Amino acid sequence: MKGEAAKNSFFTKSLMNWHERDNTRDLPWKSEKDPYKIWLSEIILQQTRALQGLPYYLKFTEAFPTVKDMAACADEQAFRLWQGLGYYNRCKNMLATARFITDELDGHFPDKHEDILKLKGIGPYTAAAIASFAFGLPHAVVDGNVYRVLARYFGIETPFDTTEGKKLFAEKAQSLLNTSDSAGYNQAIMDLGATVCTPQTPKCGDCPLQRNCTAFHENTIALLPVKSKKTVVGTRFFHYLLLQTDDQIWIRKRTGKDIWQNLHEPFLLEYSEALNSNSLQALMNEKGLHFSTENMVYEGNLKQRLTHLLVETRFFGIKMKAPIKLPDNDGTWVSVKDLKNIAFPKTLVSFFEKKLYF
Ligand code: SF4
Repeated sequence: MKGEAAKNSFFTKSLMNWHERDNTRDLPWKSEKDPYKIWLSEIILQQTRALQGLPYYLKFTEAFPTVKDMAACADEQAFRLWQGLGYYNRCKNMLATARFITDELDGHFPDKHEDILKLKGIGPYTAAAIASFAFGLPHAVVDGNVYRVLARYFGIETPFDTTEGKKLFAEKAQSLLNTSDSAGYNQAIMDLGATVCTPQTPKCGDCPLQRNCTAFHENTIALLPVKSKKTVVGTRFFHYLLLQTDDQIWIRKRTGKDIWQNLHEPFLLEYSEALNSNSLQALMNEKGLHFSTENMVYEGNLKQRLTHLLVETRFFGIKMKAPIKLPDNDGTWVSVKDLKNIAFPKTLVSFFEKKLYF
């Protein structure tokens, strides 16, 4: 194919034709025009796959049909609905934004790209998605799917996670945008990346871009897109003491700048390595936790992978005759049957489900 301009033009035309004729991907927020629902879907889909996010989108739109409904809810209700999605800061920012829009903007979502970008929890990708899907503004989205399609079609070897790469991909995406239908174009490129130009085994035989795709012709599909940084994964070791009477359990709310902020947990002892019952007992003595542990029972372990972190969790049940007062006075004793109304991190939800507390 001759020249960059012809390659660009083929890209946009072929993509739009494919979107019109062959794109069968169906999700409830597609073709949605309500900026509140578009915003909600985009916040849920940050770091979450569409199929995983779908039930959450439905739950949230049912519980909070409008931004004002969301603004008026108790934090705990939103955190509870969010449970299992992870990255709880998204939920916290979402509530702050819903309240800002309700209190400061009389419930009206901003309709200018620069104003959308100023909202809490909204970065360039989400702002472009809301601006184009809700208001038809000419802003190209750039997400993982877009990096992949552009890197392969144009043979771009610049790592997409560098300052230079981010700028290059953003400019390329913007130059390819079909400005008369920015919503359709953005939807098309994301759907092509999600269903055809997939990370592993892309369906090049079904791809409208194949004729001029650099990676297809140069056999470099598996090498693109290029990422510069390897994710460093550390491990933290959590030991939960499940302090329980017949019908109550001690829990506290996690505060401070750490993972799982605003979620609840039983009594936690974190250590630099995994402990067994004996070494845990020694640590408890060292920390002045002198309640009786003669019937302490190891109840299993679970692992949860976060972006840069693996959390290895061990559970130890300790039965008590009556609630005791703990040195850590920010916790409280709650009825076991009320646990289902309290927001917990995914690991604890899995554990409590296994114990049939939910
Ligand atoms: S031809 Fe293959 S590698 Fe190229 S854009 Fe299409 S699906 Fe991706």
